[in-house]
Amino acid sequence: MDIKTTFIALIAACITLVACGNSGGGDNSGSASVEASTAPVAMAPFNADSAYALVAAQCDFGPRVPATPAHGRCAQWLEKQLSLHCDTVVLQRATVTTFDGKQLPITNFIGSINPDNPRRLLLVAHWDCRPWADNDPDPAKHSQPVMGANDAASGVAVLLELARTLPKSETNIGIDILLVDAEDWGENGGDENSWALGTQYWASHPHVEGYRPVAGILLDMVGAKGAQFSKEYFSMQYASSVVNDLWNTAAKAGYSAFFRNHSGGAITDDHVTINTVAGIPCIDVIDMRTGTNSGFFPYWHTTADTLDKIDPATLGAVGNTLARFIAGF
Ligand SMILES: [Zn+2]
Repeated sequence: MDIKTTFIALIAACITLVACGNSGGGDNSGSASVEASTAPVAMAPFNADSAYALVAAQCDFGPRVPATPAHGRCAQWLEKQLSLHCDTVVLQRATVTTFDGKQLPITNFIGSINPDNPRRLLLVAHWDCRPWADNDPDPAKHSQPVMGANDAASGVAVLLELARTLPKSETNIGIDILLVDAEDWGENGGDENSWALGTQYWASHPHVEGYRPVAGILLDMVGAKGAQFSKEYFSMQYASSVVNDLWNTAAKAGYSAFFRNHSGGAITDDHVTINTVAGIPCIDVIDMRTGTNSGFFPYWHTTADTLDKIDPATLGAVGNTLARFIAGF
């Protein structure tokens, strides 16, 4: 994804820091275990260690850059993982054209739970890795691929673990897990449409005719130690009630240290296409930091986005928050 820096100055001027919007939302999640909350759990607990293992499994393939053997092996594994825990799995294969003129074979996956329920929630993550570590502090490494433990194996891992632990018979909604390809082949500082190629394809070729879930939630970089999820600009423009509901759920579960109650910048990511092309209100849960050169987590688009940067506490905060959100949806 790319950050729209022109928006940042604008947003920064408007930031109001609110200590905690929910008086019951204790800020204990910095060192919290995944079982930290005292709120009732209506479903099987999300297992952060299992999610961590799912991040590791993706990294074991190597960087999942489109049109590489590692990408192909991971695709086979993703299909199997979704098949284990979803009622139906659709593979969407296509060829897209990149900004640098490549014809790229891509695969999107849609794993559906309770496919006949008309009231649906869309959960999204990209599964590809960026071909170039062009934010690495060492220019000699800019041509190397990104391992993508956080960007974006973490989001995929949280969604796969959610699929595994959801008590299907007690879930009153239908859930679609969309794993999109070729998000991160974009041109840094270039055309915004060079990003999110898999999502662009899906948005114009939905897996179900007239697909219309109530809302969508995109996870991107949701596993790093000390993650900070701010209320991203486009998410608030298109789906503020979803943002506020999710953040309130996090606060009640004791995860306000991760889900910060303040405005973030505007990010070009898969959710923009889902809002503007598919017409589905969709938010982005993404790690935005102050004090880094990128505005994202410190190892964004570097060769150091590796498994050792992943913290199960962060995966647990996101997974448990989503599990509770789904239970109350
Ligand atoms: Zn990225």
